Amino acid sequence: MIEIINFIKKLYDTDEFIALHEPKFIGNEKKYLTECIDSTYVSSVGAFVDRFEKDFAAYVGSKYAVATVNGSSALHIALLLADVKRDDEVITQALSFVATSNAISYTGASPIFLDVDMDTLGLSPDSLKSFLSLNCEIIEQKCINKNTNNIIKACVPMHTFGHPCKIDELKEICQNWHIKLVEDAAESLGSHYQDKHTGTFGSLGVFSFNGNKIITSGGGGVIVTDNKELAKRAKHLTTTAKVPHPYEYEHDEIGYNYRMPNLNAALLCAQLEQLKIFLEDKRDLAQKYKTFFTNIDDIEFIKEPKNAQSNYWLNALIFKDKSSRDNFLKISNDNIVMSRPVWKLLSELKMFKKCQKDTLKNSKYLSERVLNIPSGVRL
Ligand SMILES: *Cc1c(COP(=O)(O)O)cnc(C)c1O
Repeated sequence: MIEIINFIKKLYDTDEFIALHEPKFIGNEKKYLTECIDSTYVSSVGAFVDRFEKDFAAYVGSKYAVATVNGSSALHIALLLADVKRDDEVITQALSFVATSNAISYTGASPIFLDVDMDTLGLSPDSLKSFLSLNCEIIEQKCINKNTNNIIKACVPMHTFGHPCKIDELKEICQNWHIKLVEDAAESLGSHYQDKHTGTFGSLGVFSFNGNKIITSGGGGVIVTDNKELAKRAKHLTTTAKVPHPYEYEHDEIGYNYRMPNLNAALLCAQLEQLKIFLEDKRDLAQKYKTFFTNIDDIEFIKEPKNAQSNYWLNALIFKDKSSRDNFLKISNDNIVMSRPVWKLLSELKMFKKCQKDTLKNSKYLSERVLNIPSGVRL
């Protein structure tokens, strides 16, 4: 165990605390922030928001991007735009960060937790297919869950730690079952599946720019789509559903104050310029881990899946059992090299315990054995 910790210290060339991930501001961040402050447009309108939305859409290859205050709010709005309503149901994976299932709950719908694949850590097409064929039928172009008589409106796969899941297969299954695909790409900016950027496969995709993500705006998120109407609705709903008018307060539905402030967008424009360098550095780091762990028994380094290019946002290991994982957690953190266990399964959290789920065989296995190791860019 200690040889692993020493290796990480050597990689980062330090005896001081090594975080799991930390932001790096080495480009135009201060310049753009100063410009933004000098302009006095620090709040919800401003040139940096427009510029970011344009640059981001171009980067991921989607037609439209709408910036929001965080990834959770982006997912909330994306689900509303997928027509998810109270008493509907939404399929997602049990192995994810709580924001995924929280956003589903904000709409009044219930999550259904399905298993992940061992090779991607993302939603398993086989689990999705078998859940649907065992429990659902299509009536009038809607996917009805025969256990509850509710409609399954959407499916939210997540690209865990930046590793793309089998999104093309998931997309096909969703199409066959009249289910909208909304991608939680919060962790996978810079990750591609077969040369197409993650987050652009479904009708809507979302990203997060929280402080620990690959680029950050302090807090922030974005919705991407190729559908002009959906993009317009996303902007409308995130800006309190205000009807444009020079001075009147007219709002035509219940909207949200979810816009990204210009100040955050200024920081983010500078971060986006750095993304290419961050990605190169992360791949380089992952390659070093990969080589090192080839020679370590009973620990597997998680590599990018087939047909995919991962951003390696968070490097992860699979231990042979829970006790060796937990042992490493203690030793590394005691030695100021930060490590963290993967999330507790969403289906086991107090507020989601009663939700529908499948066997979650792989998810349970992984949640006891997976751990993240330092993954910040070194530069
Ligand atoms: C970070 C993250 C989000 C969004 O989080 P915010 O903190 O609200 O930006 C959503 N889903 C997953 C899987 C995430 O990791």
